[in-house]
Amino acid sequence: MLTAVSAAAGLILPTGGMALAQAASSTPSMAQGGNAGGNVGYYRLSIGDISATVLSDGLIGGPPRVYASNAPEAELEEVLRQAFLPTDHLTLNLNTLLIETNGRRILLEAGAGQTMGPQGGRIFDNLAAIGLRPEDIDVVVVSHTHPDHVGNLRMANGGKAFPRATVFAPRADWDFFIRNDPDLSYMPVPEDFRRHFAAAIKRSVEPVTNGIELYEAGAEIVPGLTTLPALGHTPGMANFLVHSGNDQLLLTADLAYHPIVNIDHSWLPGPDRDKDTALASRRRIFDMAAADRLPVLGFHFPFPGLGRMLKTDTGYAWVPANWQF
Ligand SMILES: [Zn+2]
Repeated sequence: MLTAVSAAAGLILPTGGMALAQAASSTPSMAQGGNAGGNVGYYRLSIGDISATVLSDGLIGGPPRVYASNAPEAELEEVLRQAFLPTDHLTLNLNTLLIETNGRRILLEAGAGQTMGPQGGRIFDNLAAIGLRPEDIDVVVVSHTHPDHVGNLRMANGGKAFPRATVFAPRADWDFFIRNDPDLSYMPVPEDFRRHFAAAIKRSVEPVTNGIELYEAGAEIVPGLTTLPALGHTPGMANFLVHSGNDQLLLTADLAYHPIVNIDHSWLPGPDRDKDTALASRRRIFDMAAADRLPVLGFHFPFPGLGRMLKTDTGYAWVPANWQF
């Protein structure tokens, strides 16, 4: 079984405060809704003529404060408690999407692998569960180059995890994170974490640097897959619009980490590099999603991450989609 492991493996955000060094990741318990017997990690849907499958790469997470940087402490704790969520750790999903169109299999987001903790890297098992191997993937498109979106590009032995795939990444992110030494002082995490974060990015993309296709957010990658500028979180972050006939699916990448803190409450994600620009992108795209009643896939939302955005008097609300068999 293929596993993508970075040298910076075990990059886990400390819990309960920025300065604590204790690792936060834990196996979900029954009390948290876990199931020792295992559950499926894929979910099929169609967008017009395009067949699609949400493939989970597993879980990451960290202190809730990281993802709700301007939330008053007591209010954040109360909101998490009311959502039956732990107050010391926010779990995030890794919902990659495989689309099959015009005879090509295109993976949207590579996933984290183990670059951000031991609960990532499940995409290969989930690919196998739908009868596919990594060499069956023709194209990988990443919304931005944070480790949880590019981590699986590299196998443990340094080779390409998707050996036949052409990889597309936003040019502005490539320039910022890979061609330069990025200043990550804006991230509300310990310095050691920032260093590993930057190293994990470079290491993850190393096998695909030759032959990388750099795109401008806004470009159409293939017919049926358009990128939309969603700048601010990173210099080049894109959203994806998958479309066929009258059907569309909007992938919001990291505009929001968790619906509870970034949609139902409009707290700002700490990892947003330019918080004003990110906020403007979030409002513009959420407004579009709400006005057009677009089906939405949130990369980090509770699996499978599908739902719709509702505009309310005070902001937005996330409405998860019903599971369909
Ligand atoms: Zn992310």
